[in-house]
Amino acid sequence: MPGLDTFGKGRLRELVAYGRKVFDLRKGFESVQDSRREPKVATAFVAAAIFFCGLLRTRSFNALEPKLREKPFRRLIGAPADSKSIGSSDTLSRALRRIDLSTVQQLSIGIVEKAERNKVFREGWHGAMHAVAIDGWEPICSYNRHCDRCLIRNVRVAQGDGTVVEMEQYYHRYVVAMLIDERFDMALDIEPLLPHDLRPRGAAKDDEDEGELTAAIRLLRRVKQTYGWLQVVVADGLYPNGPFLTVVKQLRMSAVIIARKNGDEPLKEALAIWGQQPPHEVFDDKKAGERLALWDCREIKTLSTYDGPIRVVRAQVADPSKPNKPTSTWCMVVTGVAATRLSSRQVLAIGRGRWHIENTGFHQWVTRWYFDHVFVHDGHGILAIFWLFFAAFNLLTLFLYRQLRCYGRDRGKDVTRTISRLIDEMNDDLARLDHSPWDSS
Ligand SMILES: [Zn+2]
Repeated sequence: MPGLDTFGKGRLRELVAYGRKVFDLRKGFESVQDSRREPKVATAFVAAAIFFCGLLRTRSFNALEPKLREKPFRRLIGAPADSKSIGSSDTLSRALRRIDLSTVQQLSIGIVEKAERNKVFREGWHGAMHAVAIDGWEPICSYNRHCDRCLIRNVRVAQGDGTVVEMEQYYHRYVVAMLIDERFDMALDIEPLLPHDLRPRGAAKDDEDEGELTAAIRLLRRVKQTYGWLQVVVADGLYPNGPFLTVVKQLRMSAVIIARKNGDEPLKEALAIWGQQPPHEVFDDKKAGERLALWDCREIKTLSTYDGPIRVVRAQVADPSKPNKPTSTWCMVVTGVAATRLSSRQVLAIGRGRWHIENTGFHQWVTRWYFDHVFVHDGHGILAIFWLFFAAFNLLTLFLYRQLRCYGRDRGKDVTRTISRLIDEMNDDLARLDHSPWDSS
């Protein structure tokens, strides 16, 4: 007899029920395909196993392997009760190498799109605009293991005896797109930087690996095609340049880009115009304990590689309670509708929001989700895992925010601890899972 306190009440069971009812998760897993011939284990179970491996923060396939043989885990992924095993971690690796990437992408995209249709992001963010942050990310690097999708660089490594040798380092670098919302963030898309022999021929030298900007432009085009409702791109100091802003304009999007180089247009021109001018607006944000001094300049046209007006906003952020503390300065380049619709304070808020992708994204994914663990060293397989982990991350975020209502920026600073506790609870639930969470009403 299952205990009444856990029966149907476990958080893991609730999460599966939420995924099943709201996002048709079962069908999502069943839509994943791969090109193995006569596989012993259906691809849907492989996809579900990796999804829950990520969600339950299992640190390696070695740690996952014993679970694959246990009934509760098989129930969790919806495998038939009489199936003896769903294979080994080798089975998973083989399937991941042959998986149809578009089908795993669709699993994660489907969750975000459904949430959008359900008006989860209805308020938009500042100025009622939906913002996507994009940024480069390098979760994996190694001196010995490599694959045909690895990028390669020479690095100088100090040896034990004090000498320095030059070594080849292999790494995988990506550009990631993340929806940054007022309360929580969603993983939207990921694009690898291609090694020199796989990248499209272009302006770069033939022996050079692809640069971040090239991959980012490819990513942004796909992101806008997938999620037509996104309006503003937020990015860091690599991006306030003509070629990138031109693509943003072609896509009928707006940009809020951090500008760091005082000598580069259009920031150079804005700084010259502002000169010694006092701030155009000073605002005391009592809630944040900040005093904002803002300078604003519209219609700058000195960036020769971009055809259109650019707005530049500068903000100095001070803490009035600590007059001796140095102020921090932010400069943002703004194009598109955002340049006319947003106040300078809103521009600053969106520019600072870029930080979410580094914090709730990259930092959490590496420290809590083991994205930096090489589950399978194969460029294709790594991407398949990331997409399945994205789907799990997105579902978990929505579950925390919508169902448990214990998550979001307005819920205090300790949300990562809340999530860790929840994951522990879910791992306990797994051990007690005595019937499939997929076939109840
Ligand atoms: Zn590799």
